[in-house]
Amino acid sequence: MTSKNNEIMQRDLEVIWHPCTQMKDHETLPLIPIKSGKGVYLYDFDDNAYIDAVSSWWVNIFGHCNTRINDRIKAQLDTLEHVLLAGFTHEPAVELAHKLVKMTPQELKKVFYVDNGSSAVEAALKMSYHYHLNNGKRKPVFLSLSNSYHGETIGALSVGDVSLYKETYEQLLIQNMQVDVPKDQSVEAAEVALESLEKLLKEKSDEIAALIVEPLIQGAGGMHMYHPDYLVGARKLTKMYDVHLIADEIMTGFGRTGKMFACEHANISPDFMTLSKALTGGYLPLSVVMTTEDVYQAFYCDYNEHKAFLHSHSYTGNPLACAAALATLEIFEEEDVLGENTKKSVYIMDALEKFHSLDNVASIRQQGMVTAIELKGYDSTERIGLKIYEYALTQGVLLRPLGNILYFMPPYIITYEEIDKMVSVAYEGIKKVLKA
Ligand SMILES: *Cc1c(COP(=O)(O)O)cnc(C)c1O
Repeated sequence: MTSKNNEIMQRDLEVIWHPCTQMKDHETLPLIPIKSGKGVYLYDFDDNAYIDAVSSWWVNIFGHCNTRINDRIKAQLDTLEHVLLAGFTHEPAVELAHKLVKMTPQELKKVFYVDNGSSAVEAALKMSYHYHLNNGKRKPVFLSLSNSYHGETIGALSVGDVSLYKETYEQLLIQNMQVDVPKDQSVEAAEVALESLEKLLKEKSDEIAALIVEPLIQGAGGMHMYHPDYLVGARKLTKMYDVHLIADEIMTGFGRTGKMFACEHANISPDFMTLSKALTGGYLPLSVVMTTEDVYQAFYCDYNEHKAFLHSHSYTGNPLACAAALATLEIFEEEDVLGENTKKSVYIMDALEKFHSLDNVASIRQQGMVTAIELKGYDSTERIGLKIYEYALTQGVLLRPLGNILYFMPPYIITYEEIDKMVSVAYEGIKKVLKA
């Protein structure tokens, strides 16, 4: 490591406590100080380039320092940087909300601004509970799928099921029930899972405010994928039993699954949809809870009836973030992003053909621009994900496996050549951890 990289790393470790990290790891594992980014590439202070194959935690879709998004933010910066959204409004928030209503499933008519994914989930849960209360029903329980992930604040953590994040805090959590996620992408698995959902709703729907799901792909749960039929059935059942359906599209939204929103694969309209991550092209923290006219109306009355949704965050609907989102949506409007992504997905899957012959590859699955390779024969203490991560960095690719699941979730602007490089480094990485 050059002295500049090293110097920044040392100064960092004196004061910064990094997210999702056992800090002691950094006694041996170097931090990578990033100086700049352009397109799919991140550059460190030694001018090493890394292909960002995980879109910087699944947020970046049109590349780092995208000229169009940069320009939009710069223009907004000289106009209005921020204003409170209670009693006031601004043009980027208004324009963005109109666009979101137009492009999301039909029933979603209102936009509640929040400022990060977990907070959007919190707001959706509170709204759902409060809706039922405003309608004279006390439903204090949320239902979620096994292996789910919805964020890490207390409410969001409660409806998640990744034990690595959740277990420690068990005593702090709010009431949650879980039902099995379909075990794979088959129609049969969806049917089996729907049977257990129906059974549970039949018994407990009186207590349950909402079912929250990650439509089609459970991201942090290891890129687990299931069939759209499950969403079709879940929408039908939740309607029947007066339970809301919350589609958490924080990771799947904005084209990641092959359609603009994962719900479109099932042609369903949920009661709530949470969006964040790619919303701003991966630039700035912003999130929304989209909901229906019915939900909105349950809160709409004279002030003294005390039914308003009194929830807020300081940076709710920040204009700079809204400007970044508007620029991002314009790229979708003007370019055939989804069409190009379809070709790239096919190309990635074809390139993975030879992986099947590696003894430690259990299976490969794909949904749109998410491709996952499941490795077998390791226990968690071996930390093979970390080994592949370290190897890939030496080769100029940022891969960040989730345990035994190596995945690709690159920015959409990745070129075919860059895909080749990403795939070949992954192949060599998997070969490296192959046991003799
Ligand atoms: C990332 C994610 C969240 C949490 O968003 P943060 O902005 O990290 O709080 C919630 N749900 C899903 C499905 C996610 O992928």
